[in-house]
Amino acid sequence: MGQGSDRVFLLVGRKVIDFSQRFSTSRNRCTLPAMANVDRAYNHVRQELAEVGLLSDGVYLDVVELIVSGEKSEGERGYVFEQVGHYAKWGYKPGVIYLPRDLPHQPRKPGMTLCDTIRHEYAHAWFFHDPSFFRGEWFPRTFGTSYSNCNPTPYNRWRQILKRNPEYQEGKARCRTERGKLRFFYGYLLSEFITDYATTNASEDFAETFMFYLKYRRSLERFRQRPGVYRKLRNVERAVQVARRRIGSGVWQGTNRRWA
Ligand SMILES: [Zn+2]
Repeated sequence: MGQGSDRVFLLVGRKVIDFSQRFSTSRNRCTLPAMANVDRAYNHVRQELAEVGLLSDGVYLDVVELIVSGEKSEGERGYVFEQVGHYAKWGYKPGVIYLPRDLPHQPRKPGMTLCDTIRHEYAHAWFFHDPSFFRGEWFPRTFGTSYSNCNPTPYNRWRQILKRNPEYQEGKARCRTERGKLRFFYGYLLSEFITDYATTNASEDFAETFMFYLKYRRSLERFRQRPGVYRKLRNVERAVQVARRRIGSGVWQGTNRRWA
């Protein structure tokens, strides 16, 4: 049970499925305390999703499972398959959040938590379970291109515009060192993209923005000094509100992954 700002949500806690124990001889299996942490983080994020209206028992994102996989990390902190391809023979399913069995103890960025990884992966799982919602004009209007465009198109376009910005050029010319120039560049970059990783493509920009939206949903004003980021966060907030209204009024046919 968790408490929102204005109402109390009751949600059945769900257990994380643990595939890592199949590798119980490995030093890298997910230990019991680690599993308890994953369970806690998963249910914490589910509670946040319930609060913003994207999940309740049996409804919408409630279908999203989290599985600690039998595989070790190859650099990734978590993943969601849109298509499992040949991984199907090992039991992988699309739309499920997988965490590697050797859960990284070092966050990708200082301060990032297991909850952040799960928030990020929920964004991808949301797309998988309701792709039609992401075909709405809100997505390219916010992130510069479609969710499925894997190219760094929005980042490249932003860099082109930045190069033509006289204020940026003058400021950069005043930096004496390469290091100073880079820091100056990052000031501009982080005003448009919430993290470095968000520059990868539109779907990662969305997932990173959604992660911060969930985490700081009650204090988004803190991002006002980063105008591009702030605009994206508010657009994601509005998109969540639209989805919430649709979930409340329509019949979500979860099994068919479409609206009635
Ligand atoms: Zn991602």
